[in-house]
Amino acid sequence: MGEEPVSVGALVEEIRAIAGGEHVVTQPEALRTYESDGLLHLSATPGAVVLPDSAEEVQAVVAACHRAGVPFVARGAGSGLSGGALPVEDGVLIALSRMKRILEVDIENQRVVVEPGVTNIAVSNAVSGDGHFYPPDPSSQIVCTIGGNVAENSGGAHCFKYGFTTNYVTGLEVVLPDGEVAQLGGKGLDQPGYDLLGAFVGSEGTLGVCTKMTLKVIPSPEDTRTLVAFFDGTDDAGKTVTDIVAAGVVPGAIEMADQLCIQASEAATGVGYPTDAGAALTVELDGSYAECEARFEEVRKICENNGATGIRVAESEEERALIWKARKAAFAAMGRIAPNYFVQDGVIPRTKLSEVLGQIADLESEYGLQVANVFHAGDGNLHPLICYDGAKEGEAERAEELSARILDACLDAGGSITGEHGVGVDKKKHMPKMFSEPDLAAFQKLRCSFDPGGLANPGKVMPTPRLCGEVPGPYRQHPLEAAGLAERF
Ligand SMILES: Cc1cc2nc3c(=O)[nH]c(=O)nc-3n(C[C@H](O)[C@H](O)[C@H](O)COP(=O)(O)OP(=O)(O)OC[C@H]3O[C@@H](n4cnc5c(N)ncnc54)[C@H](O)[C@@H]3O)c2cc1C
Repeated sequence: MGEEPVSVGALVEEIRAIAGGEHVVTQPEALRTYESDGLLHLSATPGAVVLPDSAEEVQAVVAACHRAGVPFVARGAGSGLSGGALPVEDGVLIALSRMKRILEVDIENQRVVVEPGVTNIAVSNAVSGDGHFYPPDPSSQIVCTIGGNVAENSGGAHCFKYGFTTNYVTGLEVVLPDGEVAQLGGKGLDQPGYDLLGAFVGSEGTLGVCTKMTLKVIPSPEDTRTLVAFFDGTDDAGKTVTDIVAAGVVPGAIEMADQLCIQASEAATGVGYPTDAGAALTVELDGSYAECEARFEEVRKICENNGATGIRVAESEEERALIWKARKAAFAAMGRIAPNYFVQDGVIPRTKLSEVLGQIADLESEYGLQVANVFHAGDGNLHPLICYDGAKEGEAERAEELSARILDACLDAGGSITGEHGVGVDKKKHMPKMFSEPDLAAFQKLRCSFDPGGLANPGKVMPTPRLCGEVPGPYRQHPLEAAGLAERF
C-alpha cells in the first residue's frame, strides 16, 4: 500500500484503462443505482463503480486500490438484506454483473464452475437437463448471484435437508485485498491444511473478491410431493414441525407462514389459500418414489393429528410451482400490508418456535406495529417482517427497535442474530451480544491476516473495527483513521 491514501478521483483513469471507459461509472446520477442493496434505508454513494469482465480485470482493479490505499466493495445483484454491499463513500464498488459465464459443466464429477455474477437459478438450469440440481435456493434465486451467495453463505427453503452454500462450494478463485490471486480448494473435497475455503464462505466480502467458484451439484430427486396444511394458529403448525422431524421424516423443505403473510401472499399471487387460516405449513418431500409414497401419508396424518383445518396437495407441477411462487413472493407481497418493512433474520432452536412467536406477538402489541412471519421452520430460521410507515414521524425508529428486540428474544432462546442474511452493517451492533471480546478479537485476527490494510468491504460485520496494526499501550492514531478510512468506537 502507498504511503498516503489517495482519493478515488486519482484512481479513475487507471481503472478506466483496466476495464474500459464505458465500464466505469462516475456520473452522480448513475452512481445512485448502486447506493443501496436490499436494505433500502441505508445508502451511500461510491466514488466510482467498475464493472470488470474478467478475473484479470478484477485483480488489476484490486491491486490499484491496494497501491492507492482506496477501499473497495464487491457487489453481485445487490439483493442482500443486511447492507453488505453498501458502498464506501470515496471507495470503489466492484460490480460483478458482467462476469456471468458458466465456465464448465462437469456432470461426471458433479461439479459446475462459474463466474461470480452467475445467478443462483442459472446453476440449476445449467444441469437440469442432465438430471441434476444445485440445492441451496434463496427465495431471491432468480436474481441473486453465486458471488453474493458465497459471501453470505446463503440458504433457502431446501437447506433443512440439503445444507447451505458452504456445503456446495468445493473451490474458489479469490483476489486477495493486495491483488494476489489465490486458489482455495478445487473439484475435490476436503483439501489438507487449514480450511481457508470454509473461512472465505460467509466472510461477506471482507477477505477479498471471489472470481471463480467450483460448485457441487447433485442428482434431482426421483419424486417430489408437496402439501400445504392450514392451522388455526402458529402453535399447532409449530407442533407439527416438531412432530414431523421427531418421526424421522426429513422433508426437502418445511416452511411456515402466519395469517398476515397468508393474506399478503394470497393477494399477490391468487394461490387460493384461506385468508382466515392462522398458519400455513408447506411441506415438501423428495427422494425415491417408495420413500415419498410412504412418508407423505405419515406427514398428512401428523398434520391432521395436530388439528390441521385443511390440507391442499399439489396435484401437478404447475400447482407446486404456484405454491412456491406464493412462498417466494411473501417478502414483496408485504407492500400490500404497509409502505415499508424490515426483514429480520434470527434463528432459534426449532422447539422454541411457539415461545418466540408468542414473544413477537407481544412485541407487536407493545409497539403498535404489525409483524408478519414467514420462515424456514425446519431450521428455526425466522424471518419476521416488521411493517411500518416511513412517512410517519418516528415509526421507522420504532420498527428498528422492535426488530432488535426480536433478535434479543432469539438469543435468549439459545439462537443466533442471523441465519442466512449475514451481519453486514445492519447487525454488527448486535455481534457483542453473541460473541465475547476474545471471540471478536479472534475474528479480527483472521480478517487482518487476509486484509491487513482493512480495504476489503470496511465497516461491515465487526462491531468495533479495530485496526490490524493495533498494539497495546496508549492510544495512537492509525494512518487509516487519519485518512478517514476507518474509525474506532
Ligand atoms: C426477496 C428476497 C428474498 C431473499 N431470500 C433469501 C433466502 O431465502 N435465503 C438467503 O440466504 N438470502 C435471501 N435473500 C438475501 C440475498 O438475496 C442473499 O444474501 C444473496 O446471497 C445476495 O446475493 P447478491 O448477488 O444480491 O449479493 P449482494 O447483495 O450484491 O452482496 C452481498 C454480499 O456479498 C458480497 N459479495 C458479492 N459478490 C462477491 C464476490 N464475488 N466476492 C466477494 N464478496 C462478494 C458483497 O460485498 C456483500 O457483502 C433474499 C433477498 C431478497 C431481496
